[in-house]
Amino acid sequence: MTTQNFELMPHALTTLAEDERLFRDSVYQFADREIRPLVREMDEQAKISKTLLHKLFDLGVMGIEIPESYGGSGARFFHAVLAVEALSRVDPSIGVLVDVQNTLVINALMRWGTDDIKRHYLTKCASGTIGAYALSEAGSGSDAFALATRAAEDAGEWILNGRKLWITNGNEADLFIVFANVKPDAGYRGITAFLVERGFAGFTVGKKEDKLGIRASSTCELLLEDCRVPRANVLGEAGKGYKVAIETLNEGRIGIGAQMIGLAQGALDHAIKYTKERQQFGKAIADFQAVQHQIARAATELEAARLMVYNAARLRDAGQPFLTEAAMCKIFSSEVAERVTSLAVNLYGGYGFVKDYPVEKLYRDAKIGQIYEGTSNLQLQTIAKQIIG
Ligand SMILES: Cc1cc2nc3c(=O)[nH]c(=O)nc-3n(C[C@H](O)[C@H](O)[C@H](O)COP(=O)(O)OP(=O)(O)OC[C@H]3O[C@@H](n4cnc5c(N)ncnc54)[C@H](O)[C@@H]3O)c2cc1C
Repeated sequence: MTTQNFELMPHALTTLAEDERLFRDSVYQFADREIRPLVREMDEQAKISKTLLHKLFDLGVMGIEIPESYGGSGARFFHAVLAVEALSRVDPSIGVLVDVQNTLVINALMRWGTDDIKRHYLTKCASGTIGAYALSEAGSGSDAFALATRAAEDAGEWILNGRKLWITNGNEADLFIVFANVKPDAGYRGITAFLVERGFAGFTVGKKEDKLGIRASSTCELLLEDCRVPRANVLGEAGKGYKVAIETLNEGRIGIGAQMIGLAQGALDHAIKYTKERQQFGKAIADFQAVQHQIARAATELEAARLMVYNAARLRDAGQPFLTEAAMCKIFSSEVAERVTSLAVNLYGGYGFVKDYPVEKLYRDAKIGQIYEGTSNLQLQTIAKQIIG
């Protein structure tokens, strides 16, 4: 088989193109060098280091799909998945920061933004502006389209009133995609996406949640009190915000799958290293077949989850339907992440239960995968609808 023919052969899902491999490796090396030393402190202080935020922009992971003409990396969605996976292997809080920026905010701007919006906001996102995606509210989570935030027109501007809850990147973001209903009588057909800047009058970032996991990632309430938004800052059409939300979240959940396989890999790496070092009964615990089998099973499950995540991402980049695959990869990878991190804690024994070792954090971090960007029950609902009808 010649090399030229190989190019025409179908590739294994985990076979990365040269640019993908170099990109993934550079992100992982960065995570190892720049993030790993800060993980514990950021988790304890529930805060992401400011210096690190700047370095993420320099690395090129905050504008992965943004065209080079706007200052971005001009890469594909699959690269974003690789970046989120590589970062989450070290710290899933940084993984989700980068995930929201790329798979939700930039993704929505690229697909739904006018030329002016793209020129203005994509350039900002590529060069230092962090984005957040504000759909959920106290009374509307799974039932997202029951949102109570309202928008009304006044003198050529939109006036937004309401409260958003659980907004990732709330503390770091300067740009917020806020969903509000402009025509409540029309139900979900009134939902509209607005681009709100932190400095807009009537906009405040409220309380930050104190969480079980991904503690360094900020999760905040947003308050909109007669918040004035220029007419040009509607993303997509008024009344079509439900499409913006559905379509970006369908893609975003592949990113959550990437976060989950990254963190599961991180936990498995720790567990393998530790079990080779830890001696009991006169030998390394990795020499016990029971332990070997547990690790082998975890690696097998993780491989399956990675194939699902990569396949969903490759389908998306190929412009093929991926809705079912995205839901499947999120539910499966989040369950695998919970099992693998739990095993890692078990294999560390008592040391797995204390904060001096890294696996208890990954165990806490894994839980969120079954909750945000659509709970597991909602993913099952999507899958069932596609395959049963
Ligand atoms: C750390 C964190 C970060 C987040 N980041 C963001 C963000 O950046 N932007 C944003 O907009 N939101 C964000 N969210 C919100 C998140 O998407 C919601 O929490 C999630 O969608 C679930 O909504 P809920 O919490 O209201 O739970 P509920 O919808 O009240 O669900 C509670 C339980 O009921 C089940 N349930 C609900 N409806 C059904 C049904 N029809 N059939 C079967 N079971 C059902 C659910 O599966 C779940 O087990 C974040 C949440 C957290 C915790």
